Amino acid sequence: MSLDRAIRHIKAIATGAKYMLSGYRLTIMYPDEIQEYPDGYRGMIEYDWDACTKCGLCAMVCPADAMKMYVSKEESEEGKRPVRRPGINYTRCIFCGFCVSICPVNALRFTKIHDVAYYTFEEQIYPPEEFRKGAPRPQYDKEPKKVRAVPDEKRGLKYEPI
Ligand code: SF4
Ligand code: SF4
Repeated sequence: MSLDRAIRHIKAIATGAKYMLSGYRLTIMYPDEIQEYPDGYRGMIEYDWDACTKCGLCAMVCPADAMKMYVSKEESEEGKRPVRRPGINYTRCIFCGFCVSICPVNALRFTKIHDVAYYTFEEQIYPPEEFRKGAPRPQYDKEPKKVRAVPDEKRGLKYEPI
């Protein structure tokens, strides 16, 4: 190892040790603590089934092909043109907000939920019947403590309990 690399390693370790001993950390103890996000945060999306006019604009505007129009099985009748409603694929969504912004009747709304774990790829795809059930909820073993990030002159950022 060159002297230069050795010095950089020592500096990195010293920085880690400094923060360990100072008791100051920028991270939170998730999932014992969770951060409350500000209004306007783009988390998982809620779909208002009753408000939706089935115009398809949300699917048309989606740049990631995450929002698509699916045939609504419960509303489509045999021999007639199928009724389509939007569904979302969270493996593709980049949370750009285009679908939410373009919806003429505010049938799509961002929640602040973002920390949902899945076991399979398929579970992350929500056809309309699933999408209407609301944004998925994270499962915590015990109720987490909510904290808020606030600017701090000395540290730059600190977390306050809410
Ligand atoms: S937030 Fe963006 S990427 Fe996600 S579904 Fe809406 S338009 Fe598509
Ligand atoms: S959610 Fe909004 S944009 Fe999408 S189909 Fe329904 S009304 Fe149209």
